[in-house]
Amino acid sequence: MTTDARLVLTAFAQAARTAHPALTALDQLSGDGDFGDNLREGLDRVVSALEDRPAEPPLAVAAAVFLDEVGGTSGPLIGLLFQELARAHAAHPQDDHEAWRTGVAEGLAAIRRVGEAEPGDRTLVDTLAPARDALDAGAGPRGVAEAALRGAQATAAIRARRGRASYVGERAIGSPDPGALGIALLFWCRARVAG
Ligand code: ADP
Ligand code: MG
Ligand code: MG
Repeated sequence: MTTDARLVLTAFAQAARTAHPALTALDQLSGDGDFGDNLREGLDRVVSALEDRPAEPPLAVAAAVFLDEVGGTSGPLIGLLFQELARAHAAHPQDDHEAWRTGVAEGLAAIRRVGEAEPGDRTLVDTLAPARDALDAGAGPRGVAEAALRGAQATAAIRARRGRASYVGERAIGSPDPGALGIALLFWCRARVAG
């Protein structure tokens, strides 16, 4: 069995609403302050789209919303992650671990092709790379979520080389990258839904 992706996405939308003030404050420090808005509004649109299109695979719906409708640098990149997660869930409908393992690995590869960020550049890649490694090592949902959060927290020590945060340099040091933290929420929601 696979974790119900619809429940994961609904929990992610709720988490993005709760984290909105913190994500906004972090993007005000290192960027233009809209990451909280982009993630919350994108996921709210996903929840509405899931209600309108109940027969479609939930992760494919989320991919379409983020790729077509969500702004910022993060919108299309998160869309690529959902797209690869959707593809992997379709390929491994009975195997949750393999669906997430393949989806995160392919999503990370697609994001790196498009955004050209390396691990250590202070982006959401710094959350996805340790999550991918944990999945490769066979970790369960909780272990993957912990690895993702550790990666996100470690961005607090990094001076950005990509994205808007690279323009402000030292100012953001000591605070984690908003996109890295936002993506860590997805893995915690998966862990919570998986039980
Ligand atoms: P914008 O900077 O255009 O306002 P957002 O605020 O929506 O975009 O998203 C900012 C987040 O996007 C950053 O916190 C970072 O995690 C992520 N990001 C920025 N540039 C890249 C990149 N080249 N590759 C991967 N992620 C990136
Ligand atoms: Mg921004
Ligand atoms: Mg912006």
